[in-house]
Amino acid sequence: MRHQPGVLIVEDEPAIAELIAVNLRHNGFRPTWAIDSATAQCELDAVLPDVILLDWMLPGESGLTLAKRWRSNPRTKGVPIIMLTARGDEVDRVAGLDAGADDYITKPFSTKELLARVRAVLRRRAPEKVGGVVSIGALSLDASTYRVSFKEQMLKLGPTEFKLLQYLMSHAERVHSRSQLLDKVWGDHVFIEERTVDVHVKRLREALGANAGQMIETVRGAGYRLTAQPVLAPPSQASV
Ligand code: CA
Repeated sequence: MRHQPGVLIVEDEPAIAELIAVNLRHNGFRPTWAIDSATAQCELDAVLPDVILLDWMLPGESGLTLAKRWRSNPRTKGVPIIMLTARGDEVDRVAGLDAGADDYITKPFSTKELLARVRAVLRRRAPEKVGGVVSIGALSLDASTYRVSFKEQMLKLGPTEFKLLQYLMSHAERVHSRSQLLDKVWGDHVFIEERTVDVHVKRLREALGANAGQMIETVRGAGYRLTAQPVLAPPSQASV
């Protein structure tokens, strides 16, 4: 059930694309390949990947142009980009980073290094995609075994509640609006009502139980937040 992060490889040399794709697949990623900028744009319009590996020198539009465009588009600006290039000059590296790339890797590269960098950008930009254990207070979630526990008691969660909790725990103490949660948990291009979020938050609180359930706060007019230290309502208000 573990989420496999999607990686879009934009690379015009099939041998390199294939090498990267094979290594990504063996390491739990879901690679897709675009041979040029037009194909890459089509892929991106269809599904947002979790990371983009972007070659600099492409037929048609360059990787640099694509990076700039994707960074200025609200839909794609959150997707981490790693530029792949034979250019190792400092000036070029700076241009790549200025265009909005998160990282930069110079060809020829070791696939180990590439994988390490992919994991690193995911950890920075989308910690919930990397897996592993997240613990907030006594609440613990293990993405690789698909387990949630509170004070070492196992809890049973549905798949949507699990994803919702995983997202909230990976971005704890921050307030998330309903539309942000829809986008991040249900995915891009999914058209559901914002009220659906409320339904799943309610189910999630029920699944967490009386104590852990309070860690998910409703922030009036703003959305939801997972916090290690819930503000408990004073008894006078709670009894109304
Ligand atoms: Ca190339």
